[in-house]
Amino acid sequence: MKLIDISKLMPDPEWFEKAAKARKGAGARTGTKRARYISGKSEIWTELRPMMVQMSAGKCWYCETKIKRDYHDIDHFRPKNEVEGAESDYWWLAFDHTNYRLACPFCNRERNDDEFPKVGKGTHFPLLNPSERATCPEDDLSREIIKLLDPTNPGDPDLLNYNEYGLPITSSNACTRELKERVDESIIRYHLKCKELVNSRRTIAANIDKYVQRINDGKNVEACKENLRCLIQPHAEYLSHARRCLCKHFEHQWVQDMLATT
Ligand SMILES: [Zn+2]
Repeated sequence: MKLIDISKLMPDPEWFEKAAKARKGAGARTGTKRARYISGKSEIWTELRPMMVQMSAGKCWYCETKIKRDYHDIDHFRPKNEVEGAESDYWWLAFDHTNYRLACPFCNRERNDDEFPKVGKGTHFPLLNPSERATCPEDDLSREIIKLLDPTNPGDPDLLNYNEYGLPITSSNACTRELKERVDESIIRYHLKCKELVNSRRTIAANIDKYVQRINDGKNVEACKENLRCLIQPHAEYLSHARRCLCKHFEHQWVQDMLATT
């Protein structure tokens, strides 16, 4: 997970007008009529998709997978129509651009994987303090302690790490029980143990070790360095994992230089 600067998502004034009108419309309805009304206005959030795709070079904000063609979902981080295990939803944030996260279908949609039943975010939005859940626009969202890591929240992406086998683990920054709980919940909800993801991360770790070894042995140095640069350039998939893997070889000056300049 890489930090996404949500302040760079800047819709134009016309969009804000449309969003305000739709929010008013949603506020004038209740129950299933409101849910239907909101779902019928999906063009409002999908209009921002190209801008969101550009912000992460087409990668999912949760798992950093490059999303093929136009299979980008826009996840409402605080769910717009229904929240698993809660009696209320966050309808008033349906047209709030700061509530949008670009997601691949694996992270965004609840599914039953062969190995893992009921993974994916779906309508889940668990809190560590459910009694403080906001239930109306007047409630203070900052009182909620969200159990899911948020790629737009500075500090959250660095709580997650991956081991040499590509499996997601808590990083050393997750030093309290509460932070560990947040990482564990996010691993399930964003389906970060998905076999394909684990294999891709493991391959990256193995390739980085292999290229570093070859460079240290003086074999195909320039080609190996170019391969490493490709793995850590900003558009690369699983970039945060790749950079951490290369950081393990930080004792070499050329690694320090490469990390500083790529
Ligand atoms: Zn994803």
